[in-house]
Amino acid sequence: MQKIFFTAGPAQLYPTVTKHINYALGNNLLSISHRDKDFHEIYNFTDSKLHELLDIPKQHRIFFLSSATEAWERILQNTVSKNTFHFVNGAFSQKFFEFANMLGLNACQAKAESGESFNFENIKIPSNSELINLTHNETSTGVMLDMANIYQLKTKYPDKIISLDVVSSIPNILLNFSKLDLVYFSIQKGFGLPSGLGVLVVSPQALERSLQLKKLGHCTGTYRDFETLEQFANKSETPETPNILGIYLLGKICADILNYGIEKFRTETLIKYKMLEKVIENSKQFEYFVKIPTNRSYTSIVLKTKIPSSSIIRKLSESELVVSTGYGGFKDSHIRIGNYFTHSVEDFEILAKCLST
Ligand SMILES: *Cc1c(COP(=O)(O)O)cnc(C)c1O
Repeated sequence: MQKIFFTAGPAQLYPTVTKHINYALGNNLLSISHRDKDFHEIYNFTDSKLHELLDIPKQHRIFFLSSATEAWERILQNTVSKNTFHFVNGAFSQKFFEFANMLGLNACQAKAESGESFNFENIKIPSNSELINLTHNETSTGVMLDMANIYQLKTKYPDKIISLDVVSSIPNILLNFSKLDLVYFSIQKGFGLPSGLGVLVVSPQALERSLQLKKLGHCTGTYRDFETLEQFANKSETPETPNILGIYLLGKICADILNYGIEKFRTETLIKYKMLEKVIENSKQFEYFVKIPTNRSYTSIVLKTKIPSSSIIRKLSESELVVSTGYGGFKDSHIRIGNYFTHSVEDFEILAKCLST
């Protein structure tokens, strides 16, 4: 029997990945030059499919990076001269905050307890903050933020740059990009692709900010500052030799998702989530780590286990089902389950059955 990876990421590959990799191998796509017209076609295809799938406005640019982790550094270098503000509610948002300190910036934070969201009304954002950073889905704790609160920040602070980490909620989450300046993800979670590619979507306002900082003599980076990324994007290229296979696969998977129907996938995400919810609510072995139901992520589900999670993980593996351990200090007291487009309703029926016995 084939294993099914319900891991948070890297996750189960999307079912058509094998076919696309074989096509790439059979058609020399991994030997072509990244300055060649064949690559320009791949680049343009992926760029346009991403715009279409995620409903990204034309004026927002897509830049290819190596990871979401890289996006943290690129964002700080390109949009902040001094002051940055971070909503911290788990390990990933915490790391981003730490990057700001490492770069010598003045970083402020609003902190939420692990497994909790924020009380947005009570949070004071200093007027000198140039950038506001949020993590839509904290994969380490399973907390999902309400997008309405995030959009309100842009309404309230139109001059500040708003950045949003959507690594484990994209492509399930529908975003209003006009209220967001920087949106980023890597592809080994919700897209079900091999790791090693990051995507950063940049608004005209964020791009302009970077150009201004550069003009003022601020160092916005080297080969991947926004101006350089834009210059190369205008030629359908990247400054460095990129992850050509990753870019190729991402375009193909976007097209496959569009063919199947993204709304159909979104409905299934909810069906799978509800299926598991029923099991968890009746379980003596697990409970949700996130206490308030409306704060729970649909796509990265974190469960507190009554017995060490390693024994549950072992038991699931006997049925060829793979889930993630808890994150960091929760390694042996949580399990984490990815609910992505790559997982069918039938896959979740198998998982739900195994978790309920
Ligand atoms: C996995 C993850 C990251 C880091 O992704 P990399 O591809 O390893 O850089 C960042 N943020 C969140 C919310 C994640 O889940």
